[in-house]
Formats: sequence, C-alpha cells, structure tokens
Amino acid sequence: MLLSKPSDYVFEMLASNYGKAKKMWRRHIKEAWDYKCAYCGKYGDTIDHIHPQTYGGIDELPNMICCCNHCNKEKSHEPVEIWYFQQDFFNQERWDKIEEWRDNRAPAQRKRYIRGRGGIPTKCIVL
Ligand SMILES: [Zn+2]
Repeated sequence: MLLSKPSDYVFEMLASNYGKAKKMWRRHIKEAWDYKCAYCGKYGDTIDHIHPQTYGGIDELPNMICCCNHCNKEKSHEPVEIWYFQQDFFNQERWDKIEEWRDNRAPAQRKRYIRGRGGIPTKCIVL
C-alpha cells in the first residue's frame, strides 16, 4: 500500500515510528516505479522531488518519484520542465507518466489563481 506521506503509515499502524514509516514509504515509491529512474529509465534507487523543495515543493507523494543518482544530481534545483526537456534522454512517454503521477494524486496543485488589484486573488481556475 502506497500512502501519501510517512505519517500516514504510523497513523494506519503499518509502522511503529516515523523513521520506519519513512523508509517503508520511500521503498514503496521506488517499487511503484519498478526501481527505474522516472527521467532516464535506468536503474534508480534515490527519490527526487519533482518540484524542488527549495521552491516550495512538498514532501508528499505526488511530488516524489524514483530517480537515479545521476539525474538526481544533475537536476538539482532546476525546474523539472526546463531541465528534463533539455536532456538527450528526454522521452515523451516517460514525461507523460511523470505528469500522470503528479496530477492524478495532486488535484489541489492544479488550481491557478488570478491576481487582481493589490495582488488579491480574484479568480481560481481549476485546470
Ligand atoms: Zn536517471
């Protein structure tokens, strides 16, 4: 069972503490990707934040994918769209899978606010 964040494993009594929950959670994410890097398709055993934490990327499932060491280092804090589309190993199918993962599990992230006068959001578009 793949839950959205480590504390859910504790809550569901699948793990006795947060440390174990986090390990289990990370392993389940890699299993969901078959230990293949979401970007290049090679063997991967690290976890990448699709939207970098530095820019407010959350530490929850829709933002976490399996990634190889190489891509994890290379991508660093660059926005995923810009970084991935520049890579030689860019692959449309893999990109679709990343978007699917990100979107299916994060409906809240697909909202866009339109700023009106004084920066106050006046409209919310659900994409
Ligand atoms: Zn990779």
